[in-house]
Amino acid sequence: MIYAGIDLGGTTIKGALVSENGEILIQKAIPTGGERPHVEVVTDMANLILELMSTYGCDPEEVAAVGVGSPGSIDPENGVVVEANNFADFRNVPVREIMYGILDKPIYVDNDANVAALGESMFGAGEGQKNCVLCTLGTGLGGGVVIDGKIFSGAYHGGTELGHTVIVADGEQCTCGRKGCWEAYSSATAIIREARTAAEADPESKIHEVCGGDLSKLNAKMVFDAADMGDASAIRVKDDYIKYLGLGLTNMINIFQPEVMMIGGGVCAQGEKLLSPLRKILEREVFAGQFYKIKFRTATLGNDAGVIGAAMLGKINE
Ligand SMILES: [Zn+2]
Repeated sequence: MIYAGIDLGGTTIKGALVSENGEILIQKAIPTGGERPHVEVVTDMANLILELMSTYGCDPEEVAAVGVGSPGSIDPENGVVVEANNFADFRNVPVREIMYGILDKPIYVDNDANVAALGESMFGAGEGQKNCVLCTLGTGLGGGVVIDGKIFSGAYHGGTELGHTVIVADGEQCTCGRKGCWEAYSSATAIIREARTAAEADPESKIHEVCGGDLSKLNAKMVFDAADMGDASAIRVKDDYIKYLGLGLTNMINIFQPEVMMIGGGVCAQGEKLLSPLRKILEREVFAGQFYKIKFRTATLGNDAGVIGAAMLGKINE
């Protein structure tokens, strides 16, 4: 069978047909147009699947189900996006009902971070293991938890906000309203904020050089680059970042004890520069020395995790 997936993003809607082995057979992205009424956006999502089936040339009967990964708060039982504030008109959107009316197939909807974790657990860094945690280090710190092959999101599907667990009491202000959340220390946004502050206090810092003198252009890679050049301020920022990341990952492993602990996001392009010191922290900190049992890896599917995971909602719900 073939499974169809939609990854609804702020700027693009990605659609794909995916084989049961997780291989993308065909894919296409279209602009989201998130300022439009929700019926138009969701209708576009359904029409994109129709177009992909037609271009790929498969019998519509071969497509078993359609899965949708959406940002925001989701009610997977009813296939409703409760609220996604990236879009103008996304409150209580009956995605299942609208798409079913056009496609006449089972429609599954879940949160985008959750479906990315599902995709990675089945066909990415998780390699088919049943118990996996993915933490994505981006603008925020998103997380998804797969337990026994299924997405775990709590009793009311608002759980596994892994980034909004406090690791420093009365610490940095987080976007969620709390202070000291893990996200405020370990997102890409956090390392950039700290590097800017460090550079402003240290006019000689190489951090100024790596961003061409414009701190507003700073990214996480540049901070690592400045640290590689031996810059003391950058090294301090990087080491602190890794310390807090290791602390939060230890918490996740102590709570879930996954078979595979995965991290994703642009920062992971640093590879061993990031992983090696993290492993040292995890070996030391994970409860009862159990880290050796856990596979600790960077995500491998990149931007395809969302659309593959969304498609697999159909497979795991069969
Ligand atoms: Zn928070």
